[in-house]
Amino acid sequence: MASMKGDGLFVRDLVQKFPLIEDMKKGKEVFWLNPGLDNVLPREVSKADIEDASERLARFAPYIVRAFPETSPGGGSIESPLKNIPEMKAFLNGEAGGGLSGRLLLKCDSELPISGSIKARGGIYEVLCFAEKVALESGLLNRSDDYAVLAEDRFRELFSRYAVSVGSTGNLGLSIGIMGARLGFRLTVHMSADARQWKKDLLRQKGAKVAEYRGDFQMAVAEGRRQAEGDPLCHFVDDENSRDLFLGYAAAAERLKRQLDGMGITVDSGHPLFVYLPCGVGGGPGGVTFGLKHVFGENVHCFFAEPVQSPCMLLGIMTGLHDGICVQDVGLSGRTSADGLAVGRPSKLVGRLVGNLLDGLFTVSDSRMEALVRDLYTREGIFVEPSAAAGFPGFAAVQRNGGYAERLTPSAMDHSVHIVWATGGSMVPEGERKKYLAG
Ligand SMILES: *Cc1c(COP(=O)(O)O)cnc(C)c1O
Repeated sequence: MASMKGDGLFVRDLVQKFPLIEDMKKGKEVFWLNPGLDNVLPREVSKADIEDASERLARFAPYIVRAFPETSPGGGSIESPLKNIPEMKAFLNGEAGGGLSGRLLLKCDSELPISGSIKARGGIYEVLCFAEKVALESGLLNRSDDYAVLAEDRFRELFSRYAVSVGSTGNLGLSIGIMGARLGFRLTVHMSADARQWKKDLLRQKGAKVAEYRGDFQMAVAEGRRQAEGDPLCHFVDDENSRDLFLGYAAAAERLKRQLDGMGITVDSGHPLFVYLPCGVGGGPGGVTFGLKHVFGENVHCFFAEPVQSPCMLLGIMTGLHDGICVQDVGLSGRTSADGLAVGRPSKLVGRLVGNLLDGLFTVSDSRMEALVRDLYTREGIFVEPSAAAGFPGFAAVQRNGGYAERLTPSAMDHSVHIVWATGGSMVPEGERKKYLAG
């Protein structure tokens, strides 16, 4: 894709059509309601595909228990708690000047087993897909077997003939790296310069090779893809364009419904559910949204949160250009201190699949994310990384935004439930954590 950067005419036309870009260019926080919302589910991916993903995860559960004993209380399910956060709600309500209704919950993907971020859903799922394919084709495994056998040496030997590689700013690399190396694959994680040192160290310690690049995330992905193309035994996990990643994320929705049921929370037109998801390249929030729409239909309202300097999905969906536009085209830097969200160009796949399922997108400044990390820790004693706090401003924004409540049945907002999706944090080392909390 040729860069359109510097093409003043192109940008001027865009700004005229989409005046919000004027504010985005200035690095202001913006809130955008999607005029294209129609809740028509895409045909390219179906409910059966999500069920297939859930079943595959269930087949692997006995292996996961064996390879990662910390998952045994949950029976090898890679799942996170859904927590009530009333003190944080009271705090946000106070900040907004009062009047915010509804119940506020935190989906703690920051505590997901194995790799401590939302990437443990999609990333691990994609590695399992590849491992299953290799194992079935070898004839050493049958679908009806107890998959715990995959921990045996004969499978590690089999997998060691294959390579898995991924380009990542960090968390995806951790998920693919930890899972892939544990199975026995030869693993390479291509990382951008902004990736944290502790993530590189941890990956090397788990047996993965880390290749470092000076450029940004997109460059690391491109280089990883190029190297993988030359190796027929290498599976490249393509964060910008992967159906398997997407489905791994989508499987979260059915499980969330069971958690809500368990808390006695119903979702219907009189009790709408709002979900606020931090967005990087879009696979995680897009997959979760796709799953949620299959489960809750028009009664779930999904919003993506992006940093002010890298609102790639907002640009892609609002203009309809998807991966044909990047944040640098409108003069933004793409840089943010929020790991996982420093993405300049959105996924090829996601905007097209869920662009009409999203209620809206909003942007958040780095300093606000950082402050929210401290606010959450002070009020609830829960630590998340800055990107994982990006969803919080949505709670006040949807209620403050004029006209939004009119989209709902009368008084539905009073009975609404709001979930902030906390996408990462538990792997952050103690020293780094202290720095975040000290501010
Ligand atoms: C990757 C990541 C996201 C966003 O997921 P995408 O699939 O890139 O949109 C959000 N938060 C954290 C902590 C992440 O690591």
